[in-house]
Amino acid sequence: MKEEYDVIIIGSGPNGLAAATYLQKQGYRTAIFEQADKPGGAARTEETTLPGFKHDLGSAVHPLGFASPYFKTLPLEDYGLKWIHPEIPFAHPFEDGSAFGCYKDIHKTAAQLGEDKQNYLDLLLKFVEEWLELEEDLLAPLRIPQNLEMMFRFGLKALPSAKFIAERSFKEERSKIFFYGAAAHSTLPLSKLVSSSFGLVLTILAHRHGWPFPQGGAVKIVDALLAYYTEHGGKLFLNQPVTDLEKLPQSRSFILDLTPKQILELKNTNLSETYRNRLKKYDYGAGIFKMDWALNNPIPFTNELCRKAGTVHLGYSKQSIEDSEAAAHENRICEEPYVLLAQPTVFDSSRAPEGKHVAWAYCHVPNGNTEDVSPYIEEQIERAAPGFKKSIIARSTMRTDELQALNPNLIGGDINGGKQDITQLFTRPIASLDPYATSNPKIFIGSSSTPPGGGVHGMCGYHAAKSAERFLKK
Ligand SMILES: Cc1cc2nc3c(=O)[nH]c(=O)nc-3n(C[C@H](O)[C@H](O)[C@H](O)COP(=O)(O)OP(=O)(O)OC[C@H]3O[C@@H](n4cnc5c(N)ncnc54)[C@H](O)[C@@H]3O)c2cc1C
Repeated sequence: MKEEYDVIIIGSGPNGLAAATYLQKQGYRTAIFEQADKPGGAARTEETTLPGFKHDLGSAVHPLGFASPYFKTLPLEDYGLKWIHPEIPFAHPFEDGSAFGCYKDIHKTAAQLGEDKQNYLDLLLKFVEEWLELEEDLLAPLRIPQNLEMMFRFGLKALPSAKFIAERSFKEERSKIFFYGAAAHSTLPLSKLVSSSFGLVLTILAHRHGWPFPQGGAVKIVDALLAYYTEHGGKLFLNQPVTDLEKLPQSRSFILDLTPKQILELKNTNLSETYRNRLKKYDYGAGIFKMDWALNNPIPFTNELCRKAGTVHLGYSKQSIEDSEAAAHENRICEEPYVLLAQPTVFDSSRAPEGKHVAWAYCHVPNGNTEDVSPYIEEQIERAAPGFKKSIIARSTMRTDELQALNPNLIGGDINGGKQDITQLFTRPIASLDPYATSNPKIFIGSSSTPPGGGVHGMCGYHAAKSAERFLKK
């Protein structure tokens, strides 16, 4: 029987859309089946507090999306995507009211660090200059690096823990806290191997490209990808939770924008017992507790640098950030959490009624934890911005179980599709030269549970599509 499709993609997250757009453009007949009533996975924007206040349900800040080698090949701007660059990509306030801002200009940034000025440049400058070559290896599956010498030098700084690199590189507490702010995006305890890599990559990207976000919210990335996809003949079916591959139309192959736990639950995948057993060993990371606010005014940060930054990292001592990130892995709730905050309306008035604002934040919590930690998050913001709580008109919160109900890929509130530690960062979901291929030659995995992992960059889906293309050409 002639199959209706060459590839069916299950899930319309950024990776599903990346795979679908690539293959559709190559002339294959593709379709996406999505369980939700809206596309986009963990990149959606909705009015969850009050009418007119547009909140990002998932991703908010997109250095990886802007820098994505695959997205760069698509004319997304022609489909309505407009990037907004905050004056300062990210800032970190300290207890005494001072703050450091990470400017795009690395020298201006380093100049704030006093005794650590040269140390900051020694850690980052060369990699900022070499980024274009570095990204070829960093955003690809595990392989012999094309730039072996450079990757070796990068590995020396990226493989250790953030704690080790902070102690080795910097003398002053504030410089270490500043580095921790970016490294804690790893969702790993900062004493764990490779936690440094997230701090390095994200700070390099800030200096190289900035930390932009789309005008109108994360949904605009999805809208642009979808418009491009459907214009090329691709089909999207919403409200279609796939539980059994045999219930789908006939297709030559499948790309799953799903994580291992969901793949194991899918019927008729015909995956070998050995492969299934390997997927069963896949580990999920800490969860998050997510908050959005409708605000009467911009967040009244005491420090001007924070008022000009798109993203603000909150954590008032080295010890408290270390404790916060360790707690999320020790089944503890930290009452003084490290908080990641974005304030898009300072730069994009289209996201709220005139004069009003939205803000977005989360902190890490143990996987599956359902405690309401909103008072702790709000208190952390209030410390740097007295009067913040009084400016709140409405708030919405999402616990780990609510996140997973919204999007089944967010297992226990894990937003990265699985733990990104030394054992799983490069070898996800299993150690293999082609981690996108499975034991069934027709089935491929393209979610953030494959390299290079979490974030809105589409590179997992793109690599899965390339792997599927090799099969389709046989
Ligand atoms: C609160 C939050 C904040 C984040 N912040 C950022 C950020 O600021 N910057 C950044 O770059 N990244 C951020 N991320 C991470 C980023 O959003 C994810 O890494 C990215 O969306 C992963 O893309 P994906 O396509 O692999 O999976 P997802 O985006 O999770 O998409 C998977 C899709 O599959 C669908 N699906 C699941 N099961 C089925 C099924 N059985 N049948 C059909 N469809 C199914 C889901 O509904 C979903 O649409 C954040 C994520 C969250 C949740």
